[in-house]
Amino acid sequence: VAETARFSVRRPTTPPESGAGLPPAGHFIGGAFVPGTGPGTLDVENPATGTVIATVAAGSAQDVDAAVAAAVSAKDGWAATTPKERSDALHRIAGIVEENRAFLEALESLNTGKPEAVAEDDITSVIDTFRFTAGAARTLTSLAAGEYAKGHTSVILREPVGVVGIITPWNYPLLMAAWKLAPVLATGNTLVLKPSEQTPLSTLKLAELIADVLPAGVLNIVTGTGPVVGQRLAEHPDVDLVAITGSVGSGQKVAATAAGSVKRVHLELGGKAPVVVFPDADLKAAAEGVRAAGFWNAGQECGAACRVLVHESVAEEFTALLVAEVRSIVVGAPGAGDDVEVGPMISREHFERVRGALERAEADGLHLAVGGRPIEGPGYFIEPTVVTGVPAGAGIAATEVFGPVVSVETFASDEEAVRRANETPYGLSASVWTTDAARSMTVPRRLDFGTVWVNSHLTLACEVPWGGFKGSGYGRDLSLYALEDFSRTKHVMFNHGA
Ligand code: NAD
Repeated sequence: VAETARFSVRRPTTPPESGAGLPPAGHFIGGAFVPGTGPGTLDVENPATGTVIATVAAGSAQDVDAAVAAAVSAKDGWAATTPKERSDALHRIAGIVEENRAFLEALESLNTGKPEAVAEDDITSVIDTFRFTAGAARTLTSLAAGEYAKGHTSVILREPVGVVGIITPWNYPLLMAAWKLAPVLATGNTLVLKPSEQTPLSTLKLAELIADVLPAGVLNIVTGTGPVVGQRLAEHPDVDLVAITGSVGSGQKVAATAAGSVKRVHLELGGKAPVVVFPDADLKAAAEGVRAAGFWNAGQECGAACRVLVHESVAEEFTALLVAEVRSIVVGAPGAGDDVEVGPMISREHFERVRGALERAEADGLHLAVGGRPIEGPGYFIEPTVVTGVPAGAGIAATEVFGPVVSVETFASDEEAVRRANETPYGLSASVWTTDAARSMTVPRRLDFGTVWVNSHLTLACEVPWGGFKGSGYGRDLSLYALEDFSRTKHVMFNHGA
């Protein structure tokens, strides 16, 4: 393996410190850290080295029940606060994250292996999410409606849903938590959050840092596995809504379990974003765009620019530009320099999954134009890879690899490009690269994805919604739509005669 790898892992001369300032191991319930009820623990790794950096509690169903009970008892008090009071709390949280950003960035890098630049971007976005939501929540008013039945006046109230269960993934641990926490808190709900068992540290640290900002019981965190803690959150009769960001399979299980108590479900699931490059595109810009958005977070990104569909007349030129871009990517561990772009896979298991996808691609006769190999350890690094000559329907282009792997297919007409781009069970995001004004307007409308970028990919902002169609789930993060998703409307009608 090592002798055929064309990339090597750059490592820091002084390994980052670990241990100092780590959050307490335990669940955060009712405003304090408490030990779990069971004896089980989970090891938390640094994927850049494969070493254990912390041990957290493997939560049980009883731990979830205790956290839900705390959230229930805090529910009425928090729901009775004004939008301004909740907004003030979110502003304080944003300020605390900002004051502690250097530590939180280092912790996120340590637990995920992501380069500093990615961790910095994550924490910047966490701060902006809390600030945006703090302001936006104050605009979300109940509607004073009008007289729709003779002698009756209607008012539509916007209320919290109640207790919200939140289940987050490992790829952007604190950012995915913030995307839910901010709108859930702003709309007056209390919550129980289960971070990914692989990356619980930054979420626990946030709880430690903001423990005094929120009344006890408003925010609760239970660490543990999906099938135990996540499952109990989805089935608990006192949880009114469960939101998960994760894989399609986990989302399906959560939705099926939630049906038992008819609770609301908010799903942000996987993606396989097509990148449609038309013959009139700025090919250099498109290749740079795929380099940035296909390999961001080592491709462990639900919106990654991972599936290129390029017009056959420019395929050779585009592929040469892309391969040159990818060859110059620096792979490395956190602390190895600002120019490191690609870090490790999150775990040995995920590393093996990505490696298996590449081996199958090779066995299918596809061409690995650059990369394609694991890089010798320690840690779980895979080379940045471009797979070319990919026929319609090939596995590498059909399923989510979630690694530093971009596949390239070709198409012959606009009709075919749209049809093939839509031929996926996913519907999260896509991009279109063209300088033709008509194409830039018509093609996005025909693409079945919750976000479509034109001449860009992976650019996000708090004001605009993020979420999928089809197998990528339903529910929207960010924007005013998230505030709607985590609140409910009630119609009150006054009969005043005449
Ligand atoms: P995952 O589905 O393995 O885990 C996500 C969370 O769900 C974890 O906390 C896990 O413990 C929990 N979980 C697992 N099984 C469960 C069950 N049966 N019941 C309840 N909870 C359960 O996903 P992951 O590997 O952590 O994250 C990667 C996936 O997340 C990818 O598919 C990616 O596309 C997706 N993702 C989507 C978005 C988005 O915005 N749509 C953002 C980030 C990641």
